Amino acid sequence: MNMKVIVSDKLAMEGVQKLKDGGFEVLEAWDEPKDKLPELIADCDAIVIRSATKATKELIDAGTQLKVIGRAGIGLDNVDLEHAKAKGIVVVNTPAATTASVAELTFTLMLATVRDVVRGTTGIKEGKWEKKQLKGNEVFGRTLGVIGIGRIGTAVAERAEAFGMKILAYDPYTKSDKFENVDLDTIIAQSDFITQHLPLTPETKHMIGKDQFARMKDGVTILNVARGGTIDEDALYDAMVSGKVAKAALDVFETEPPVDNKLLTLPNLICTPHIGAQTHEGQLRAGIQVAERVMEELNKLG
Ligand code: NAD
Repeated sequence: MNMKVIVSDKLAMEGVQKLKDGGFEVLEAWDEPKDKLPELIADCDAIVIRSATKATKELIDAGTQLKVIGRAGIGLDNVDLEHAKAKGIVVVNTPAATTASVAELTFTLMLATVRDVVRGTTGIKEGKWEKKQLKGNEVFGRTLGVIGIGRIGTAVAERAEAFGMKILAYDPYTKSDKFENVDLDTIIAQSDFITQHLPLTPETKHMIGKDQFARMKDGVTILNVARGGTIDEDALYDAMVSGKVAKAALDVFETEPPVDNKLLTLPNLICTPHIGAQTHEGQLRAGIQVAERVMEELNKLG
């Protein structure tokens, strides 16, 4: 009997097709209400998800035949990993599929902050020609501090190097073989731009807060395209109001979507709605890779 895979979040159709071509029966369930998933998963051997489906203990238990959970993307915060492991269910993801997408958004935001692209656009649309007010800065020759020099941090640093920036990297677990490795204090004290590319963990929560902002260069620019919560948003707000932080760009927030977030009142903040991985290329890669990984695991089981 064919093995059955439920795809419960919208996936690149090329990934869905790959599963079908591999001889698997595919249940296309992304338009189904999420509360119907426990019923639909009952006879499935694998589930493929993105971020919308929560692979909770209850959903995992409802999948009585479940052997593999495939997450298209990197974050596994929506999977009860401990419970899956306890039940012998393999969890696979596609950590490298969207590295270029996230790095490019980080760079987009960095250049947009220094050249006031957003204010320039809204100004013109509102009938203002703020040529004199919008004198920006170059990134050329300036120092970028990269906190977390894994896949995305490295990809951002490579792009920054091509723009003539000096790179400082801090990562207690990975040493870069391409960029200068320094301690966190050096990044904080010497960087003109600081960008984080690390997971949100108890250790990284609010790792940039009041004390760190106080020790930064005046006029520093802060970028966060990693996870909301690694920067203390209240402390960032105070540092932006005082002028210590000249500009900030965020793709992620402690609460998403942000509700009554005072950062949104600041003219020197630009932001995007957690779209780091949201590109056609990245999602295509993630869809195909997750299908391949899920098939690989199912095929091992015969
Ligand atoms: P990665 O695992 O390759 O790199 C993460 C790095 O963070 C690792 O080298 C690790 O050693 C380092 N790290 C862990 N704890 C640290 C600490 N306390 N201080 C400094 N460094 C620390 O992961 P990646 O593929 O580069 O992704 C990085 C992050 O990007 C992810 O964790 C995720 O939060 C985020 N992300 C965001 C989006 C988005 O849509 N905005 C999309 C994908 C990933």
